[in-house]
Amino acid sequence: MIVVMKKGADQSQIDHMVQRIASLGLKPHVIVGAERTVIAAVGEKRPEHKESLESGPGVAEVVKILAPYKVASREVKPEPTVIRAGSLTAGGDTIGVIAGPCSVETEAQILACAKAVKAAGGTALRGGAFKPRTSPYSFQGLKERGLEMLAAARAETGLAVVTEVVASEDTDLVARYADVLQVGARNMQNYRLLEAVGKAGKPVLLKRGPSATMEELLLAAEYILDAGNPNVMLCERGIRTFETHTRFTLPLATVPYLKQKTHLPVIVDPSHGTGHSYLVPDMTAASVAVGADGIILEVHPDPENALSDGYQTLNFEQFATTMARCRQIAEVLGRRI
Ligand code: PEP
Ligand code: MN
Repeated sequence: MIVVMKKGADQSQIDHMVQRIASLGLKPHVIVGAERTVIAAVGEKRPEHKESLESGPGVAEVVKILAPYKVASREVKPEPTVIRAGSLTAGGDTIGVIAGPCSVETEAQILACAKAVKAAGGTALRGGAFKPRTSPYSFQGLKERGLEMLAAARAETGLAVVTEVVASEDTDLVARYADVLQVGARNMQNYRLLEAVGKAGKPVLLKRGPSATMEELLLAAEYILDAGNPNVMLCERGIRTFETHTRFTLPLATVPYLKQKTHLPVIVDPSHGTGHSYLVPDMTAASVAVGADGIILEVHPDPENALSDGYQTLNFEQFATTMARCRQIAEVLGRRI
């Protein structure tokens, strides 16, 4: 259910309704909108709840939330959520560009990336310190040393740091260094991890599992929202299909679909979505054209010698050209990067 407050409802009325919802054994989520405040009441409902809440002070109406994801739903919050994390803004009029290597390798490598990303107009730095690799024999990341290198690159350039947390027990450590916690595709349905990042107090970039449906993605986001973290970005990074010409299949219809269903920003990852660097610039441009609120791209000073995902990684020049193209498309759409 959503308790829709009247336009002029004051804080004491909102607080009162929060308590009333909790006293019915439901979990209240206050969502402050531009027009008015709504309170989602999530949990096991009984028929008499609606009537009981409708009579509350400052309440305009009580309506059922039809979608299985409640707090993520557009029904609850019609206006888009804008996420801000240091230099990164994603949502509304602003498109965030998160770029950097697949893995943090050396201090010189991550600093060179940060400088090139910033110079080309990127707005956040990515880089994996904890890497979820398909093979246990592949490079697993520099772990805390990698996080320190990311923090040093942030100190030098001012770029916000987006980095992955692979296990719930690492969440506090990664959150000490990161501006945005990335939950990887392989972990989209790791519910303990989703709860942990929901409590970590940092925005989250939640990647779609390669065989997850839109509803499963939105319900995974709901875990994070329900744990008390309103700052979730959804990321389309390609799904598994019968097709083999690309590493994954990148379905860009995800973007307008999700924007109908949820107020959360939608980010696209054309690097993992295609798996080939020569396809990345066009699919990045297409992602911006279709309305993405952000892009996440793999960029490296020497992609050929990258320790992971080099074949889908742009060099600095390719990144700068791609950025220039995206800026032009964004402008036509009345948005900015
Ligand atoms: C990554 O961003 O490098 C990564 C491992 O992505 P995904 O979880 O989408 O595979
Ligand atoms: Mn990668």
